[in-house]
Amino acid sequence: MKACKREKLPVKELKNIVGSEYLQTAREDLVCYGYDASGIESLPEAVVFPGTAAEISGIVKLANRYRFPVFPRGAGSGNVGGAVPLGGGVVISLNRFDRVIEINTEDLFAVVEPGVVTGKFQEIVEKEGLFYPPDPASSNFCTIGGNVATGAGGPRAVKYGVTYNYVLGLEVVLPTGEIITTGRKTEKGVVGYDLTSLFVGSEGTLGIITKIVLRLLPLPDQRATLLVVFDSIHRCVKTVSEILRNKTLPSAIEFIDKNSIEAVENRFDLGLGKNVESVLLIEVDGDTEIVDLMTRRLSDLCKKHGAQGVDIATDNEAQEKLWRVRKAIAPALLSLKPAKINEDVCVPRSKIPDLIAALDRLSEKYSVPVASFGHAGDGNIHVNFLLDRNNTDELVRAELATRELFDHVLRLGGTISGEHGIGIAKSPFVGKELGDTEVETMKRIKRALDPRKIMNPGKIFESNSSFFRRKKILHDRSGARL
Ligand SMILES: Cc1cc2nc3c(=O)[nH]c(=O)nc-3n(C[C@H](O)[C@H](O)[C@H](O)COP(=O)(O)OP(=O)(O)OC[C@H]3O[C@@H](n4cnc5c(N)ncnc54)[C@H](O)[C@@H]3O)c2cc1C
Repeated sequence: MKACKREKLPVKELKNIVGSEYLQTAREDLVCYGYDASGIESLPEAVVFPGTAAEISGIVKLANRYRFPVFPRGAGSGNVGGAVPLGGGVVISLNRFDRVIEINTEDLFAVVEPGVVTGKFQEIVEKEGLFYPPDPASSNFCTIGGNVATGAGGPRAVKYGVTYNYVLGLEVVLPTGEIITTGRKTEKGVVGYDLTSLFVGSEGTLGIITKIVLRLLPLPDQRATLLVVFDSIHRCVKTVSEILRNKTLPSAIEFIDKNSIEAVENRFDLGLGKNVESVLLIEVDGDTEIVDLMTRRLSDLCKKHGAQGVDIATDNEAQEKLWRVRKAIAPALLSLKPAKINEDVCVPRSKIPDLIAALDRLSEKYSVPVASFGHAGDGNIHVNFLLDRNNTDELVRAELATRELFDHVLRLGGTISGEHGIGIAKSPFVGKELGDTEVETMKRIKRALDPRKIMNPGKIFESNSSFFRRKKILHDRSGARL
């Protein structure tokens, strides 16, 4: 698809819609909205902060008339450049959509605006004795809207599923400016096509989500977290399969490798000792007796399969510390090397040992250090190739390793993205996983909803970025010269 033909940005008309205090065009303001956690950068021409769906509709209609692209943005914590305004245009920030509109304690649902921060929402519902399980490691700063748009997951997916499983209905401003509501507030409902699911994970390419109906669960009585240490990474990942085979279903099983442990040890003194090769962080929840029973069973099981030690945290403070450490891994890796390529591949859980063995091989073959951690309970491992800033040769080797990693993951029956999405960064690789007809079907949906190509262009399969373009972006970012 070609990008839309551009006219001059109608700043005055944009101002008329949102009000002058909610429009920014100064370069020093724009830079804050020209990147996300992927490190990919591109300056917008303007940022707007609308306060209602009707205002967003007005902006989108204007975009159709003047043919400028719009880019929905939550907290900008995405890892693939999904919110980055490729080629300029207008960033539509959802910051002002920050209200929890309703928490229905009888029918167990909530209605929220997309700019609500996920962790804050979880705290609010927990005060009502309710539970919203999806818990991306970025929950302290990412937004529910961003989570819905990316189909975000998190450690608890192993027992509770991902954001997809909790979205009952949506309000969406379509790329034409029309406003629709999809779905329902009931647990079930099968009237017409499932438009709600179409928008979940669509990465802001099919419309702007302005209201969300979320399913809630009763809050479990009790939680416990086990910190299990291993002197062999292979014993560690084999234990994950044993746990799942053993009919115990923890709410989270997170895996952390040696390099990742070293990175967080630099910040948090965990006192894990020198021989630790890898760690499992396992959370169980439920009624108090069940939690006690599962904790004992899991502890025995881990020891039987070679764990050196098991520490059990039952009070909130100790558990929170362990999960703070887990959430800090991604940024902490930069204490080992100044740059990284971060991928979130997902394989069938029984294939995790194979994936880990392949990472060893790739690291050696391409001479690039690798750190891996993540949601072992659902097979979604975050693979990080660690890089020096000015080492062009290393960057090329890391890209080749990434390419080979994807091929291997697909051979194992996995997927190239378990939860981060495609955005710009992974768009060159979509064709590896999806067939031509499947991609063309998706493009037809995109064309039907967004005939003028104004909604978040350049993302998923639309990007004109190739493998080597991505390389250039990384070069630019790292300051290295080609
Ligand atoms: C340290 C760290 C840890 C992370 N851990 C996890 C994890 O455990 N699991 C996980 O899934 N992800 C994780 N992520 C990635 C990221 O936090 C998620 O993708 C998150 O869902 C993005 O939310 P956001 O509000 O920052 O969205 P943004 O980055 O602003 O946007 C993400 C995408 O959603 C679109 N979008 C945002 N809001 C809307 C809207 N209202 N309507 C339509 N489209 C919209 C954007 O256009 C973009 O394509 C992590 C990131 C970091 C930096």
